Amino acid sequence: MALLVMKFGGSSVSDAEAMRRVAGRVVSSHQAGNQVAVVVSAMGDTTDELLDLAAQVSPGVPPQREMDMLLSAGERISMALLAMAIEKLGVPAKSFTGAQAGMRTDTAHGRARLLDVQPARVRLALDEGRVAIVAGFQGISTDDDITTLGRGGSDTTAVALAAALDADVCEIYTDVDGLYTADPRIVPSARPVTRLTIEETLEMAAHGAKILHLRAVEYARRFHVPLHVRSSFSDKEGTWILVGRPLTEDTMEEPIISGIAHDRSLGKVTAVGIPDRPGAAAAVVGAVSRAGVSVDMIVQNVSTSDAATSDISFTIPETDGQTTVAAVRGLQAEMGFSDVLYTSHVGKLSLVGAGMRSNPSVAARLFSALAEAGVNIEMISTSEIRISVICDQADLEAGVRAVHTAFDLDAEAEAVVYGGTGR
Ligand code: ADP
Ligand code: ASP
Ligand code: MG
Repeated sequence: MALLVMKFGGSSVSDAEAMRRVAGRVVSSHQAGNQVAVVVSAMGDTTDELLDLAAQVSPGVPPQREMDMLLSAGERISMALLAMAIEKLGVPAKSFTGAQAGMRTDTAHGRARLLDVQPARVRLALDEGRVAIVAGFQGISTDDDITTLGRGGSDTTAVALAAALDADVCEIYTDVDGLYTADPRIVPSARPVTRLTIEETLEMAAHGAKILHLRAVEYARRFHVPLHVRSSFSDKEGTWILVGRPLTEDTMEEPIISGIAHDRSLGKVTAVGIPDRPGAAAAVVGAVSRAGVSVDMIVQNVSTSDAATSDISFTIPETDGQTTVAAVRGLQAEMGFSDVLYTSHVGKLSLVGAGMRSNPSVAARLFSALAEAGVNIEMISTSEIRISVICDQADLEAGVRAVHTAFDLDAEAEAVVYGGTGR
């Protein structure tokens, strides 16, 4: 008997009919002789709607504790409805909030991190022959307050539950037929990927492929949880995410492109005219990280304002724009730099695959594809398995399509997007 964790995202449970369809799928897995724990997200756009409501009653920054109370309600609605729908099909089911499922987190409301997972009640329900349903995206803090794990966090709940239960596989059911070489919403000719290593998946997720929450992939790597990403709307096989890929002779030294990720939610901050001395970058990046913002790409070069000084530019999540600018401005007088500039609507395109750095032709091909598409590159960074460029957000989609074609990734068949908004 296998133990499965099946996770269903918001677009898979968007209304009562979808909920019944998912219940049918869960029941089939259960009847096939598996123990089944399910993780559900809030229905459709519920989380966004709750955020809108909060903004109406409390413009600005609402109290974070109450925000988490509010947002966690979305997943509770789903878990109870799904339990009812499964019971209706004759299989016993029981739902659990994140707290009841033993998801202990730190106290960082809105972006809490899991500290400990003790799903004793879930295990008991499974041993009683029930389907256990756990509300995704939430936990209970060390102060006994309800927390949420950050947008897209239900994937992380699912992987953490799979690890704690020592499940055979964590199945992520979504609104597309698995992972593709690019987001099928913007590249209809994207090619389905049947297998991907966890490292490549990590790069895709870290650079904007929102099909998997980055922390879920990190967790899966750390705890060796096999991931299977597939559609809840079809029976296509989807994508298996593996710990290592066997190299065959013909792929040994060739670059292997796994896909193109894009991120349209970035902002760029530049500290202009920083006196050139050791420790300048550390001071700027240190102040930003103390403000709780993670810095992505960083570039330092000779200042446009004065040759004896340098500029440091870096990208951050757009939602952290104001916090970051305030943190950098706080250093301005002490460090003596001339200005802080901020650009919102910055986009990032990342080409991910093995053998990037050792094959210089890959970068050349990428840059010329972007040039032909009229996309101006503002920043570049490379790693062993990725090349990323920063550009204007308005050029991003055209850039992704051009690069996809330039690397011969286009498939003949059009990818199917079954639901959701892609937001
Ligand atoms: P869920 O509600 O199931 O959690 P998400 O909206 O979070 O679903 O993630 C699924 C979406 O991820 C897809 O609809 C697709 O638009 C997007 N996506 C981005 N990059 C990729 C990719 N490389 N392959 C497949 N989907 C991708
Ligand atoms: N409902 C949450 C969100 O919309 C969590 C999730 O769907 O994973 O971000
Ligand atoms: Mg998601």
